[in-house]
Formats: sequence, structure tokens, C-alpha cells
Amino acid sequence: MTHDLDILALGAHPDDVEVHVGGILALASDRGIKAAILDLTAGDLGTRGTAETRRAEAQQAAGILGVPRIVLDFPDGRFTEDESYRQRLMAEIRRLRPRILILPPPEDRHPDHRRAHRLAREAAYYAGLKNYPCPVAPWRPEALAWVGGENPDPPDLLVDVSAAWERRMAAFDAFGSQFAQDASQPVTRIAHSAFRRGVLGRAMHWGSLRMCDWAEALWCERPVPMALIQLLARLEEPA
Ligand SMILES: [Zn+2]
Repeated sequence: MTHDLDILALGAHPDDVEVHVGGILALASDRGIKAAILDLTAGDLGTRGTAETRRAEAQQAAGILGVPRIVLDFPDGRFTEDESYRQRLMAEIRRLRPRILILPPPEDRHPDHRRAHRLAREAAYYAGLKNYPCPVAPWRPEALAWVGGENPDPPDLLVDVSAAWERRMAAFDAFGSQFAQDASQPVTRIAHSAFRRGVLGRAMHWGSLRMCDWAEALWCERPVPMALIQLLARLEEPA
């Protein structure tokens, strides 16, 4: 069996993927590399915006990046690592058959991000076991990678995303309910102007290590899987 998707980027909430790897997804769509976003929740516990607003923003952002978006509608903040959630996620991984799965960070201030990392990492493993009860045929991603938390270790991989940078930030800014300056809304950590500057600053720093304008970072198990190196190298080829 061959893969259906090259890259599946998974987030706990709508906007998680756009905070970290929007450039990687935009480059993929420009190069005919099949990518998609999978959100575990619709972000219904968010301080700003409703689940409906966030859903509309999330679809707009995915459209800007040029990739499809799937929402599993797990309960925000209340999904667990129980087998029922693992099975639903496993079925989705088996249905989408991604070659590379990009996960939320293992260490982060938000407990949903840490839990989503553990849940998805286990689901990706068990999805490959043929006798694990699940109505969809077994599939295990060839390689896992994950995004960084707020203060990560030096990255394992850096991708030059300069060619897609404006679209990448347009997708980030599509989440107006979350990131825009709005005096009528409560000030949250992610709606503070410092959060957006942090996104820019990290991409600029990683770009300085790659000698390019803007880069996105990934972490993975060691040794770094060759499938990951080969696929990410294709992203940097001319479109
Ligand atoms: Zn989040």
C-alpha cells in the first residue's frame, strides 16, 4: 500500500498548525506535495471567539495555505488519552495514510498540546498494528516530527520557507479572533502583540542559522529519519 498524503500536520486547536508550520504546508501545496491539517478540537474553550468563528477562520487559513483541513471535534480541554480517543485518531490516521505526521510539541505551557502529542504519537504507532481493533486497514506513518514549544531546544531540522512567507503569515492572521489587537476583547497571551513578534522572531532566528530570511523548525526522534530529510528537501526546490 502506498501513502495518500505526504504530510499531515496535527494540532490540538485550530491555529496551532498555523503558528508553527504554515510555511511548510504552503510550500508543499505549491510543489504538488500532498498535505493536510488535522485539528483535534474546534477550540470551543477559547477565551476569544466562538467555535463557529474559529471554524470559519480555520477554513479560511487552510484555503490560504492551499491544503484541506479536517476537524475531529474532540472536546477542547477535556479530551483524554483514553482508548476511545486513541481509536478515533487511529482511524483517521489509517484513513488519511500520511507518510509524515507532524505533531504538537511534547513540552509546552498548554496541557492540551502536551496531551495531543502523547495521544497522537501513540495513535500513530498503534495504527500500524494489524490486530488492533479498528474498522480501517492498518497504516503507520513512515516518520514523525513535531513543532517546538515556547522555549525549545535547538531544532533537528530547519526548512527555508522564505518563498511562502507572506502567505504563511496571511494564514496566521486569518485567525483574527485569536491574534488580532482588539480593545473590546480580553487580552490573552496569544492576542498580545508580543506573541506575533515571537512567531516572527523565532522564524527570523532559525532563518539566520540557515542563511535565509525565514525558516520553520522541526524536532524528531534520532537518528533523523531519511524520509523526513528527503521530503523536507523537496520543499526547498523551486516550485
Ligand atoms: Zn493550541
